[in-house]
Amino acid sequence: MKAFLSQTVRLMLPYRCAVCGRVSDAEDRMSYISNRYREYFNEESRIHVCGKCLSSIRPYKPENRWQLCLSEPLPGDIIASQALFIAIPYVDLITHVIPAIKFSMQKDLARLMGIILSEILRCEKISADLVVPVPLSDARKDQRGFNQAEEMSVPVAGMLKLPMVTDCLIRNRHTGRQTETRDRYERMKNIEEAFEVSGSWDIEGLTVILIDDVATTGFTMHEAALALYKAGASKVLCVALAGNRLIKNAEAF
Ligand SMILES: [Zn+2]
Repeated sequence: MKAFLSQTVRLMLPYRCAVCGRVSDAEDRMSYISNRYREYFNEESRIHVCGKCLSSIRPYKPENRWQLCLSEPLPGDIIASQALFIAIPYVDLITHVIPAIKFSMQKDLARLMGIILSEILRCEKISADLVVPVPLSDARKDQRGFNQAEEMSVPVAGMLKLPMVTDCLIRNRHTGRQTETRDRYERMKNIEEAFEVSGSWDIEGLTVILIDDVATTGFTMHEAALALYKAGASKVLCVALAGNRLIKNAEAF
């Protein structure tokens, strides 16, 4: 009864949007997301996003969501045709949301974005064995208090009814931020061999959905996918919430 009352009161009260800061009334779209939040995280969402902000997050058209992970694969790349699913173009509102998650430590906002990602992925025919978030280094995770890719993976794993595994893929060294490294070559070197699969996991023959918040050059996801393949994964599906390239992959999978 108490939970029912507090939920009713919450639905009646105006709230402040976590993205634009405007005061807004509760809206149907947010109540759908709030229900998913409760389902996947077993608690109430403490933040709201207004209808205006939600409707300004526009996914790529379905035919443009699968792209090449590396737009210019390097010679000898053993996963040169690795594809990457990008749900939303990294433009407009999403360019404010991602930094707010990372630098204002908005874990709840990462979770809401994960719910949006899972809803976009709902249209895809995906079969896999595991959901694995791209790990942060321990130092970065301690600093931020959470891994945004992990928070975004929870609704995806929940929607697909798959286990999410956070101790399989390990970031074996602390790399500088990809956004702070200058050119393409430097970014590639920065992330090279930064990941490995834990010896306590046997992923031989498994299909893994690898999730990250943003893909720009694609190097981070490429290196993480490579580590999973080297450990025996049969297929890796790279999925990013947002990205800013549009190179179509001819090979659908
Ligand atoms: Zn808003």
